[in-house]
Amino acid sequence: MGNYVFLGAPGAGKGTMAGLAAERFGIRHISTGDILRAELKAGTELGRQAQQYMEAGELVPDALVAALVNSVLGRDHVRDRGFILDGYPRTVTQADLLHEELDRTHLNLDAVVLIEVSRDLLMQRLTARRVCPACRAVFNVLFGPPARAEVCDACGGPLVQRPDDNADTVAQRLAVYQEQTAPLIEYYESRCLLRRTPGDGGRETNFQALCRCLGLAP
Ligand code: AMP
Repeated sequence: MGNYVFLGAPGAGKGTMAGLAAERFGIRHISTGDILRAELKAGTELGRQAQQYMEAGELVPDALVAALVNSVLGRDHVRDRGFILDGYPRTVTQADLLHEELDRTHLNLDAVVLIEVSRDLLMQRLTARRVCPACRAVFNVLFGPPARAEVCDACGGPLVQRPDDNADTVAQRLAVYQEQTAPLIEYYESRCLLRRTPGDGGRETNFQALCRCLGLAP
């Protein structure tokens, strides 16, 4: 089905859209944020190294994240089914490292999809976001609440707010995005890989727009 990068500010819906695409098309969803949170929860050395950056809303060092992604990209089922990179690359250095790895392993990127959302909506979405640590489902108390308050519709587990979804850390994450990740828009535009899709509607509307953008039937 192809190999893609989903680009967009925190709260743009990269994870939600990648999750829907994984379910619908069987493509592998690789979220560096999810992998780092799992390492942190498991108390690994990598998780310990990443923790201070994540809690401050800063980026984890490039080499650390690149090594993590490269190890996942090397797996056979990822190569066979195609992948969506959600949250990687986030700096120009990471983009260079990704392309070195793709060249080395004879993989191609089919497209980089920029999910566009206004800043006000990003702030609202992030601070009202609730996640299920057990099954990774994402809800929003304003725009897509679960049927029962603070309980996951999918698996019945308790929902939590991510520690980095408080207002101060969200503002820092958006600033880091503007400074370090937004330059990737031009980076991929100049390589003729960038496609844009609106992310400010509801989940289904956004997914249909994404499928159209990728030339796939939703
Ligand atoms: P996310 O779930 O994508 O919003 O990521 C949560 C946090 O994990 C970020 O604020 C960073 O601290 C860290 N992180 C995730 N992906 C990357 C990346 N590609 N480079 C550096 N840090 C990352």
